[in-house]
Amino acid sequence: MDAMLLESVEGLGHSPFVESPGAIWESLQAEKERIGRDLLLEGPLCEGEVTSLLESEASEEYTREIRWRHRSQLEERLRAVTEAQDRVIDGLYGRCMQCGSDIGSKRLLADPAVLLCIDCQRSVEGLIALEELGQEVIH
Ligand SMILES: [Zn+2]
Repeated sequence: MDAMLLESVEGLGHSPFVESPGAIWESLQAEKERIGRDLLLEGPLCEGEVTSLLESEASEEYTREIRWRHRSQLEERLRAVTEAQDRVIDGLYGRCMQCGSDIGSKRLLADPAVLLCIDCQRSVEGLIALEELGQEVIH
């Protein structure tokens, strides 16, 4: 099934934003598989964190909570990567979901599932920071 999908992705030709949609789709797929494995193993990425918590006599409940949080982070990431694959298929990959401008290739390289260009990301983070400060956001 995946091979067929991949063929159709390659058949899309070149998006103006992305040099090789097939390769991007494949690297997203590889990340998805990694996340899937991590989920199955209940997050080996945070094993060190959990161990040090255990050593510091953290309560079992707290450790469970950390594991749970890690799991939900993985699930969130899985969703983001799946959505990025959808955008590859739709030919929207590499475009900012907010303003529609081209997301820098360095940014995409750092996080292939990134949704927003740097400007929009900054404004979103700015809004969150303001909300955290309890200030009213002026629209
Ligand atoms: Zn933008």
